[in-house]
Amino acid sequence: AKSAGKNNYQYYSGMMNHSSLDKLELQNDLHRAVAAGAFELCYQPVIDLNTRRLISVEALVRWHHPQRGSIPPEVFISMAEETGLIVPLGNWVLNEACRQMAQWRRDGLAVQRVAVNISALQFSEGSLLRQVIDALDVSGLPSHCLALELTESVLMEDVAYTLGMLADLKAMDVKISIDDFGTGYSSMSYLKQFPIDSLKIDRSFVANLPGSTQDSAITQAIIAMAHSFNLTVVAEGVETEEQASYLDSLGCEKCQGFLYGKPMPAQEVNRLVENSTKI
Ligand code: C2E
Ligand code: CA
Ligand code: CA
Ligand code: CA
Repeated sequence: AKSAGKNNYQYYSGMMNHSSLDKLELQNDLHRAVAAGAFELCYQPVIDLNTRRLISVEALVRWHHPQRGSIPPEVFISMAEETGLIVPLGNWVLNEACRQMAQWRRDGLAVQRVAVNISALQFSEGSLLRQVIDALDVSGLPSHCLALELTESVLMEDVAYTLGMLADLKAMDVKISIDDFGTGYSSMSYLKQFPIDSLKIDRSFVANLPGSTQDSAITQAIIAMAHSFNLTVVAEGVETEEQASYLDSLGCEKCQGFLYGKPMPAQEVNRLVENSTKI
């Protein structure tokens, strides 16, 4: 019995060692990748529903692991959160997005703004404002051409801190957008306190439009409330023309999704915009 127990122990500890070693190895690789800036930014078009043209883009980070291939952002972003690597990684994203957006402006490309995702630790850690100022300064990008996407839970973690931070960003004219709206927090009373520019309706509500009466009701309520606070609305995850025209009929200003383009390298954004304005 004793030896069987021991074998069991060895079996399980062997399993755990394998997965924790695996995780440790990936963390080390992530550390090296952050030090080397070995990431790529893709950009997803955001479409103005009135003109059906690209108006802005959202930057989404990609990691092509030398051995394991492409690692989903959910995996390495949460790992970067756990290890604190999200601060330098997020700073790399911010700088690269501002650099690219400034380049598009020099190219005369009709892209108004780039949106950058900001994770919880990056927001709370204390150096975000400095990083934003530096990224704008180094790139020469006007601050109104940068938007930060924050989730409700991040905003609500420390309301006093959030109020101060958003006031500073607002004073600089950096735009603020609430990401995945409707999924994170039960109260919406904070909307009247925070200087926010837009809400992004989470794609879980958009997926079953226009068929689902419940999701239609939620979407209409979000749009009505956003407009009463003078916020613009961006619908995420728009995959069909039916969804786009339905959202337009509800007064939703912008949309984003595979219908208009997956996240793509910067050069593809150039091609997309140049071809659409030549017509
Ligand atoms: P998110 O900010 O909600 O980004 C939207 C995600 O939905 C992206 O996944 C995008 O590819 C996907 N998506 C866009 N349109 C559609 C559609 O029509 N249908 C479907 N099914 N999906 C669509 P991605 O690029 O895998 O990113 C996943 C998440 O990882 C992001 O969710 C964001 O939370 C995080 N993330 C990505 N890049 C960054 C970054 O640079 N910094 C931080 N902090 N987080 C990031
Ligand atoms: Ca419209
Ligand atoms: Ca986002
Ligand atoms: Ca989102």
